[in-house]
Amino acid sequence: MNVLIIGANGKIGSILSQKLKGTTHQPIAMVRKKEQQKAFEGKNIKTSLADLEKDFSHAFDNVNAVVFTAGSGAHTGKDKTHLIDRLGAKKAIDLAVKHKIDRFVMVSAFGADASPNQWPEAMAHYYEAKADADKHLMQSGLNYTILMPGKLTDENGTNNVEIGEKISQRSGSITRTDVATVIQKSLDHEKTFSKNLELLSGDMPIDEALDHL
Ligand code: NAP
Repeated sequence: MNVLIIGANGKIGSILSQKLKGTTHQPIAMVRKKEQQKAFEGKNIKTSLADLEKDFSHAFDNVNAVVFTAGSGAHTGKDKTHLIDRLGAKKAIDLAVKHKIDRFVMVSAFGADASPNQWPEAMAHYYEAKADADKHLMQSGLNYTILMPGKLTDENGTNNVEIGEKISQRSGSITRTDVATVIQKSLDHEKTFSKNLELLSGDMPIDEALDHL
């Protein structure tokens, strides 16, 4: 499969691009700057130069699966959360439908499916954007997996997670490397199809945890 990674220059996106390189799932890194494109191509990773705030439909040519792991980040305002995390994600879903790309893996956030009164006030706009994009994906008819990781850390991957539609831990963290591994393995793992999955660091090796879904 050719896998378009939206947000490839980000932390999870970079790890995932490297992991997919040379496997049966060829990564196509969607990046928005020429220098980022050069850096990825220097690592023999195909790229697509495109920006979620502009027309990015060309990025969907010859693509079989999409991973959305972009985000406006913590240092921008609510306007960017709306433009990237909500509208950018929804446009990507619509483009996948239009291009008949059946597989879509979304990186959402732990708690995005909770009732709005449980969201911390300062973060409500973020969870609302994530929830709206997730709902759009669930209604799209695509074969989706929505991953809802907890707080992301940059430590080394542990390869041990807790994953499921409702897991026992109700808060926690997970390394970006482990999230990237879960994305990689979810791409063609049928147990993850059409599911919204909470994801935290845990005790079970990722392969086993996915087989247990
Ligand atoms: P990250 O490092 O901030 O990467 C986000 C990427 O999105 C960046 O590469 C950025 O591009 C890209 N992006 C932003 N605006 C764009 C645009 N207009 N067009 C194209 N690309 C654009 O993110 P991360 O830490 O890997 O996290 C990935 C995902 O996990 C995000 O969706 C985030 O919301 C979610 N998440 C985060 C946490 C947490 O604790 N932080 C918890 C749960 C879920 P540039 O490199 O060009 O800036």
